[in-house]
Amino acid sequence: MIVAMQENATEEQIDAVIDAMEDAGVDVHRTTGEFQTILAGVGPTAGLDLTKFEVLPGVLHVHRISAPYKLAGRAFRPQGTVVEFANGSAIGGEKVALIAGPCAVESREQIFATAACVKRAGGGFLRGGAFKPRTSPYSFQGLGIPGLELMREAAGANGLAVVSEVMEIAQIEPMLPYVDCFQVGARNMQNFNLLRELGQVRKPVLLKRGIAATVEELLLSSEYILSGGNYDVILCERGIRTYETATRNTMDISAIPVLKKLTHLPVVADPSHGTGRRDMVAPMAKAAVAAGADALIIEIHPNADKAASDAAQTLYLDQFEKLAAELRAIAAAVGRTL
Ligand code: PEP
Ligand code: MN
Repeated sequence: MIVAMQENATEEQIDAVIDAMEDAGVDVHRTTGEFQTILAGVGPTAGLDLTKFEVLPGVLHVHRISAPYKLAGRAFRPQGTVVEFANGSAIGGEKVALIAGPCAVESREQIFATAACVKRAGGGFLRGGAFKPRTSPYSFQGLGIPGLELMREAAGANGLAVVSEVMEIAQIEPMLPYVDCFQVGARNMQNFNLLRELGQVRKPVLLKRGIAATVEELLLSSEYILSGGNYDVILCERGIRTYETATRNTMDISAIPVLKKLTHLPVVADPSHGTGRRDMVAPMAKAAVAAGADALIIEIHPNADKAASDAAQTLYLDQFEKLAAELRAIAAAVGRTL
């Protein structure tokens, strides 16, 4: 941490700040310039609330130098994390992974037709919600465990891995036999009890960015899972809430290279929730691959207009197959395969 003192700070004020830093276990290195004193603090600053130094008399600014997250930081694994799945697919390697499926599992016909399409398109993962976090309690809430049974069967028949959302701790155990990857939804990004519990599980977790969360908050949330010993965490940019109303959310493409720089964890982009519009999914998917995303998660449905949830942002199966082919050229242009 760096504490910059005000130009007129007195020796007493400087000494008081040094004492407070040392009390917090930080080693202080003082630089006295012609006009200003700078205090550099080295030590365990990750858990410190820096505001407590900012409010001391004579202090101008306090800056954090090292990241408040440790296990998620790029330095922990400079080579990057590759999350591997039993079906042979991986997320974080050279190949950009495709995760696709309906917003919600609705029927056997729907999920089998969708799974076959994901396979044809070269995807390795079938997504689909069985427990749905809907804005209104009167909207379709998902099929629950019978939905997961259908997903498992359809994924198995097509060599795909299953990704599905877990909304609460009590669902983890019953979901274990059916899912290869637990999705934590945007609304639960800061459900710290759920995150801690997923740290105890030995299955990958796809953690979505909260609708109003900063990149740092997303990384701190991942730290809850990592610190439990579960290192298979995949981060997901899915759009954030801004003042813009032209799209459902604002897809923060820049979060992708930012995350790739700050963390070793793989980054997935969700252009479906990111835009909320079928006609915007393909351009944002392409932009995400160009920006360095390790995977895409896309909502598709054989009868997209009639989907029980998120119909407006859901692609028809043929649209997805066409997109996958187009994405191959983008991936090649940035040195990846797909
Ligand atoms: C979903 O993937 O269907 C979903 C509900 O996503 P999010 O949590 O990003 O809104
Ligand atoms: Mn959805």
